[in-house]
Amino acid sequence: MTAASAARLLSGLPDRLPGLLALYEDLHAHPELSFQEVRTAGVVAERLRKQGWEVTEGVGGTGVVGVLANGEGPVVLLRADMDGLPVRERTQLPYASQEMGVDSEGNKVPVMHACGHDMHVTCLLGASAQLAAARDEWHGTVVAVFQPAEEVGGAPAMIEDGFLDRFPRADVCLGQHVSPAPVGLVGTRPGTVMAASDSLRVRLHGRGGHGSTPETTVDPIVMAAAVVMRLQTVVSREVGAAQTAVVTVGSLHAGTKENIIPDTADLRINIRSTTPAVRERVLAAVERIVRAEAAASGAPKEPEITGFNPFPVTVNDAEATGTVLTAIAEVLGGERVFTLPEPLTGSEDFGVFGAALGVPSVFWHFGGADPAFFEHIDPDTLLTDGLPDTVPANHSPYFAPVPEPTIHTGVTALLAAAAHWLCAGDRREK
Ligand SMILES: [Zn+2]
Ligand SMILES: [Zn+2]
Repeated sequence: MTAASAARLLSGLPDRLPGLLALYEDLHAHPELSFQEVRTAGVVAERLRKQGWEVTEGVGGTGVVGVLANGEGPVVLLRADMDGLPVRERTQLPYASQEMGVDSEGNKVPVMHACGHDMHVTCLLGASAQLAAARDEWHGTVVAVFQPAEEVGGAPAMIEDGFLDRFPRADVCLGQHVSPAPVGLVGTRPGTVMAASDSLRVRLHGRGGHGSTPETTVDPIVMAAAVVMRLQTVVSREVGAAQTAVVTVGSLHAGTKENIIPDTADLRINIRSTTPAVRERVLAAVERIVRAEAAASGAPKEPEITGFNPFPVTVNDAEATGTVLTAIAEVLGGERVFTLPEPLTGSEDFGVFGAALGVPSVFWHFGGADPAFFEHIDPDTLLTDGLPDTVPANHSPYFAPVPEPTIHTGVTALLAAAAHWLCAGDRREK
C-alpha cells in the first residue's frame, strides 16, 4: 500500500527539482542567525501561500506554520528548521554565503548555513508543493512547521507561542537532518537517536594585578587551564565505557595583555549525554571540578555557573520508526536505508513537538556528502567505524552537501514517511 501511495505523492517531482535547486542555492547564499530568519521566513510564507497552504507567520519569533487541510484523516506534522550559524564559509561554492550578521551579544559575525538547515527548508517546501498538487491522492491534514533557531533551541519558543492551541494537533511528528553520510542514504534508530545537550557559562573569579608580581594575585587563567584539563577526566574516569557522554570546552576568554593578570576568566562548556543518569552524573562532576579548582587556586569568590540552551534527548517512537524506515526503503530501496547502532552525540530540539503533543515522533538523517569522499571505503564499515574525518561535517566551514540528489532524497523521504499516515484512508474507502 505505502509504496504505491508514496509513488502518487511523488509523481511530477523530477520536474520540480530544478526550481528546488535554485531555491536551495538562494537560501544557502542568504543564511540568517537564530531568531533572525526574517528573509527565509518570508520566502517560506510566500511559497506556501502560492501552493495553497493556510499560512501563519511570526510563530515563536520568526517561525512559519503552514496548514493544509484535506478532509478526514490523520494529522501529520512535518518540521524543518531555518537558521544558519556564525561560521565563515570556506566551501568556495558559487553560491557560498558572503553574509554577515549580528549575534545575540552584539558581535558582528559571518553567517553560513553550516548545518544544512537550508536543505531542510528546501526539502519541506518541495514536499509541501507535492502535497498541495496531489490533493486527490491523500486525506487528512498536514502541518508544515518551519522552525526558527534550532541551534539555540527555538522549538520551545513556538510551543510557548500557543502552538498546541493555534494549529491542528498532530498524530505524528516527522523531521529530518542532512548529514555527512554518503548522499542518498537514510538512517535512524528506534528509541534514543540523538543526545541531550547542556551548555554552561562559567565565570571564574581571581584577583588581577601586574604580570611581574603573580604572588600578589590569584591568576584566573591558570585556574581556567586547570579546570579545562581536569574536565577531560570526567568522561574517561566517571562515565562507563559502554555509555556515551561528551564534555567540550568550546570557548575560553580571559585577559587583554601579556603583563596584566586579569580578574576573571570565562568558559563555555557543552555536555552531551544519552541517558538521564549519565547526564546528572556528568553535570554534577563538571560543577564539582569547577568549584574545586577555584578553591584550589584560592579564588576570592565562588565561580558563577549558569546553564543555557538545554536540549532534551531525541527519542524515536519504536513502532512509528519501523513504519517510517519501511516506507522509505520501499521507495528508495532497502540498500539505502539503515538502522543506526548507537545514538548520535549531536542534539536536536525536534523532539519538543512530539513531547508537547504527547504523540510519536520520528527523526531521521539523510546523507548529503559527495560519493567521492567514500571511494576507497567499504560502506559496510561506516555504521561501525563512523564517518571518515576527511568528510566535512555539520558546523564545519567546508560543510557542503551536494544539492542533487540530496534534495531528491530529502523530499522523497518526507513524502514516503508521510504517505503511511496520509494515504491510509485508501484501505478504508476502496
Ligand atoms: Zn547544527
Ligand atoms: Zn542542524
